[in-house]
Amino acid sequence: RFPLPSPREGRSRLLVLAGPTAVGKGTVAAHIRENHPEIHLSVSATTRAPRPGEQDGVHYFFVDDAEFDRMIAEGELLEYATVHNKFRYGTPRKPIEAALAEGKTVLLEIDLQGARQVRAADPSANLVFLLPPSWDELVQRLVGRGTEDAEERARRLRTAKVELASQSEFDHRVVNEDVATAAREVVELTADSAR
Ligand code: 5GP
Repeated sequence: RFPLPSPREGRSRLLVLAGPTAVGKGTVAAHIRENHPEIHLSVSATTRAPRPGEQDGVHYFFVDDAEFDRMIAEGELLEYATVHNKFRYGTPRKPIEAALAEGKTVLLEIDLQGARQVRAADPSANLVFLLPPSWDELVQRLVGRGTEDAEERARRLRTAKVELASQSEFDHRVVNEDVATAAREVVELTADSAR
């Protein structure tokens, strides 16, 4: 369903950024959003409520369960998953197809379940796994942001262990020690900056 990879570089212009909880995927994606307007950052639909400062249509499309069901039924989502056993998240297909048709690079910041679905839909997709500098650092980041209670943290860390063990499924690994550096490394993997 997707255009073929750019013949120029032979790499896919569809880039997927995934990685475990608290590794900083969202922060790296936000950095790319602010500094690389040439890259189309996919805006996901989600059933969770907006956090302070989040804008509908910019950070997410905030939808209710009925609307999410409708999007699934109408085939509007390229992939979707329930993340952390809680809310549903999905990637609208149309904007991605439009951006790829315009020759743009598209970046998806999604979870591991979603990354696998994108791989299945488009085997040429470029999958990037974002890693913490160490396991201890990941734990520190999760504790430090203070948005989950102890039980939820323990659950996420169990998931993170399993997810870290899957990193070899990915085409590239980027360590998120410093956000700007990690963002640059991700951007350098896109076809646009290949030369
Ligand atoms: P948050 O609620 O903190 O913004 O995101 C929670 C998790 O949902 C993150 O791991 C993020 O990567 C994932 N996520 C965001 N959008 C999507 C999406 O469209 N599809 C999938 N599968 N995961 C997503």
